[in-house]
Amino acid sequence: MKNILITGGTGFIGSHICLVLLNKGYEITIVDSLINSSPVVIERLKEFCKSGEKNVNRINFEKGDLRNQDFLSSLFETYYKKGLKFDAVLHLAGLKSVKESTQEPLKYWDYNLIGTINLLKIMGEYRCTNLVFSSSATIYGSKKDNTLIDEYSLINPINAYGYTKATIERILEDLSKTKNQKWRIASLRYFNPVGAHYSGRIGENPLDNPNNILPIITKVAAGLIDELKIFGNDWDTPDGTGIRDYIHVMDLAEGHLISLEKILNNEFKFIKLNLGTAKGTSVLELIKTFEKVNKVKVPYRYCLRRDGDVAYSVADNSLAKSILNWIPKRDLEEMCRDSWNWYKNNPKGF
Ligand code: NAD
Ligand code: UDP
Repeated sequence: MKNILITGGTGFIGSHICLVLLNKGYEITIVDSLINSSPVVIERLKEFCKSGEKNVNRINFEKGDLRNQDFLSSLFETYYKKGLKFDAVLHLAGLKSVKESTQEPLKYWDYNLIGTINLLKIMGEYRCTNLVFSSSATIYGSKKDNTLIDEYSLINPINAYGYTKATIERILEDLSKTKNQKWRIASLRYFNPVGAHYSGRIGENPLDNPNNILPIITKVAAGLIDELKIFGNDWDTPDGTGIRDYIHVMDLAEGHLISLEKILNNEFKFIKLNLGTAKGTSVLELIKTFEKVNKVKVPYRYCLRRDGDVAYSVADNSLAKSILNWIPKRDLEEMCRDSWNWYKNNPKGF
């Protein structure tokens, strides 16, 4: 049984990845400081094990911060001595608010970069050199011509958050070229992850006020916020609102599983892949779909553009499709339905 370490495993995306890995029979060890997640996630994951949905084995949870080197050393040593060494790491832990990163850049470099360097060092020491890293579409520069973004597009982040991700990718590339260590790395560049597991037992649970559009739409639909502020209706897009590539979090999680297994099979040294659907959706289209599938109203009002936004960000996902043999299966209606189902079942979060 392989033991996979998942940093940030109680977070939104991490919790769905944990479920997919458990269903595939892996043992998992979650490390999370809980700065933006709840320990209830662990109980929910255990429920899936108990209900016997699939052949589920063990879940280990260690509360801790990746910036703490002593914590990481003792974690790796303890699991090594128990005969539970980590076969691979899925590294999701980090901060992700673009807005906050522009206000507190040092915090972002500290959490995202220092945390990652500590992790990579200890992985090297224990010869655990299989890694899947959570990167982001924010590393790409904005394109003037509203065309799909492929992996060769210009890397040109416009905020501290994006720079931390681009810098980590650079470090990973350097590591992958070292001769004395056998690193196998996949850096997955997510576009706009939304949705939730269809059961409504796990989902997105930001501890602070949400900045991303889907959690805000659910709050508006629930009457907790009066209206959605649409950031600009004068973009160079057919209806004037921003276009994004929304991807169901379960499709994203399945992309991680396949990447992990390819790494464990030694199939590549270092790969950077877009995980998106290649389909663009405007803010207005998203609202209309959410209203239609959930039979709710989402009042909105046009406001000024948000700083740092771009008109259009949609993935060319052909590389991920061919290399991973992965196809995102869930459409926008399913994303909207599952987000609302998660909210209705957990109006106060976990
Ligand atoms: P999330 O905040 O729900 O999950 C991140 C988890 O990491 C949280 O549980 C948090 O408590 C934990 N964490 C943060 N710093 C830590 C530290 N120093 N030590 C230990 N734990 C720490 O976010 P998410 O949406 O699940 O995102 C997961 C990853 O995917 C992040 O790296 C994020 O940058 C990346 N990503 C997310 C999106 C998105 O829109 N959600 C898009 C692109 C990339
Ligand atoms: N958006 C909006 N109102 C909000 C939040 C987001 O109009 O309250 C728009 C935003 O301008 C962008 C899209 O929704 O066009 C997706 O924004 P989000 O913050 O979810 O993702 P990102 O900007 O990181 O792609």
